[in-house]
Amino acid sequence: MKVFKFGGASVKDAAAVRNMTRIVRQHQQDKLLVVVSAMGKTTNALEEIIRLFKFGHDYQAAVLALKQYHLNIITELFPNTGPVTDAINQLMDELHMHLETPDEEDKQYDQVVSLGEVMSTVIVHRFFKQEGLNCHWVDARNIIRTDSTFREGKVDWDETEHHCQELLQKQNHPLYLTQGFIGSDEYGNTTTLGREGSDYTAAIFASCLGASSVTIWKDVPGVMNADPKRLPDATVFEELPYKEAAEMTYYGASVIHPKTIKPLALKNIPLYVKSFLDPQLPGTKIHECMVTNLPPLIVFKENQCLISCKVTDYTFIHEEQLSTIFHALNELNIRLNVMQNSAISFSFCIDFRENKLLALIERLQRDFEVYYNTRLTLITVKNYDAPHVERYRNYPGILLEQSSRSTLQVLVRAEP
Ligand code: ASP
Ligand code: MG
Repeated sequence: MKVFKFGGASVKDAAAVRNMTRIVRQHQQDKLLVVVSAMGKTTNALEEIIRLFKFGHDYQAAVLALKQYHLNIITELFPNTGPVTDAINQLMDELHMHLETPDEEDKQYDQVVSLGEVMSTVIVHRFFKQEGLNCHWVDARNIIRTDSTFREGKVDWDETEHHCQELLQKQNHPLYLTQGFIGSDEYGNTTTLGREGSDYTAAIFASCLGASSVTIWKDVPGVMNADPKRLPDATVFEELPYKEAAEMTYYGASVIHPKTIKPLALKNIPLYVKSFLDPQLPGTKIHECMVTNLPPLIVFKENQCLISCKVTDYTFIHEEQLSTIFHALNELNIRLNVMQNSAISFSFCIDFRENKLLALIERLQRDFEVYYNTRLTLITVKNYDAPHVERYRNYPGILLEQSSRSTLQVLVRAEP
């Protein structure tokens, strides 16, 4: 069994769906489980719909636009659009129902945004069938069991593995199609695994099904040492050790979701990152290997926020105060990206999420004078050399800088 994952860009329009179908068809010699994300920017659109609804703005136009986007793809893919249009209409009704049912914010978010993946796989499944691919549609919510941490579900591995094995026993098919990003808790509520979590889904399935490999199909030729949109001379790694790949994702490389590597490394399942635009290219193989002389790796992590906690009583910052800060971060489930202390202050950088930031500041203000800056970018240069040090230490708008033997990080104001 192999696992393939196709992200939003690989199913963003009818031509893309045809292209990914061609790739799947060419790999029919193995049993295959295909994980598909929501089409194009659907998840962002669903987030926006939730936001509009929450603030009492008109959200109907946004819902209609999203529906029309899917219907346009359907019109291009199917001579008979009736059955799949009915399915989409039904999911749109579900969307309205979840929006209008008062619920806890993160829980409601998951019930709504998960529909993007369901819509996408309903369409792709019908198209596979039309193209003669014998494919079994799997509802990932019946397989991936998580706790009830909405927006960031923690996987219950035993339950999930049990469901995976049951699937193999009860439904023996050459090709399975399922949704990335979504699962459900023990009460049957839909949960999500965190934004861009479909890669993680692929790794979860691969681990629990004992797959021989995972391939993530992307619009880049493989894992690169920088984002080619920012740095045009970026190069592709032929192979990377699991550890190196995991660290890259920690620093914010968006090529693979941060949680993807661990389950694969634990079972020694290789991960291929390949281009759906040019499937003949070798791509990158991530596995247990030794690579010497890795080039500097540059990662830009956007939408960062720097918080500084200052003591107010002429004492120096001490461990009890640090523990107060860490306690607050832990309780609010906020991850630190960089931290630094001075005599009277402790500064740290986190991803910007407005509701969490406000809650954190409210907590910290009980003990500290709190300052913060938003709209920042954290640049990490791993395996740096002299020219890269020169370049990034002189980057405009640096607010914080830190380096270890292998890694240089600068936190800068985003370019306007
Ligand atoms: N559709 C989800 C998102 O955009 C999951 C994914 O694409 O991996 O965050
Ligand atoms: Mg996506």
